[in-house]
Amino acid sequence: MFWHTGESESGRVAFGFTDRLGGTSEGPWESLNLGTSNGDDPATVHRNIDLVANRFGVDRLVRMTQVHGSDVVWAADIADGDIPTADALLSDQPGVGVLVRVADCTPIVLTAAREPLAGVVHCGREGLVRGVVPAAVAEMRDRGAALIEAWIGPRACGRCYELPEAMADAVGAEVPEARSTTSWGTPAVDIGAGVIAQLTANGVRVTDLGAEECTIEHDEWFSYRRQGQDSGRFGAIAVVR
Ligand SMILES: [Zn+2]
Repeated sequence: MFWHTGESESGRVAFGFTDRLGGTSEGPWESLNLGTSNGDDPATVHRNIDLVANRFGVDRLVRMTQVHGSDVVWAADIADGDIPTADALLSDQPGVGVLVRVADCTPIVLTAAREPLAGVVHCGREGLVRGVVPAAVAEMRDRGAALIEAWIGPRACGRCYELPEAMADAVGAEVPEARSTTSWGTPAVDIGAGVIAQLTANGVRVTDLGAEECTIEHDEWFSYRRQGQDSGRFGAIAVVR
């Protein structure tokens, strides 16, 4: 169920990145699919999300409808049962967890090293250009985070994420570190490298957990590019203790 778990330097925030295992979905969603926009049975997906939440002992888990934007939302501002439209979700409340879901886009967990502040971010091509990661970092600093730590999860790598040249160049014009070339020599982007550049420029301490875990290349991950429309979603959860 969890590919990697960890905690902030102070231990006041716990987090985990999920894999495909230990859920109840079948078919292309087998088995720990956390996404509801891909044709899987919603009741089954909710059971999977509950399994993840329960393993982390959260009182309340807030998730988001991700739209490749740069909106950042605090979980405490969301009414029970509501699902905000955002690409970054932060928590400053003990027992309140936040969830991000991906299949090729880059999942990022943010924690304040010492303060009880946690976040998750969804970043693809558009989110990188729009600066969703720096926006989330700025929100955490405003809320009192001194040193921020980031853990970056599995995603499409820069040797696989092929794009039309104009699109790849447009990303490179905004975030030069993200412009790459596929292993077969065509224009591409490396979202992970772009995210790392943005985090580093903002003074965040980065740990790249997913550097060798390309979702397109390895079928232990859900991948939109490899599996198509009905690909499942894995994700990351972060919770303030
Ligand atoms: Zn790859």
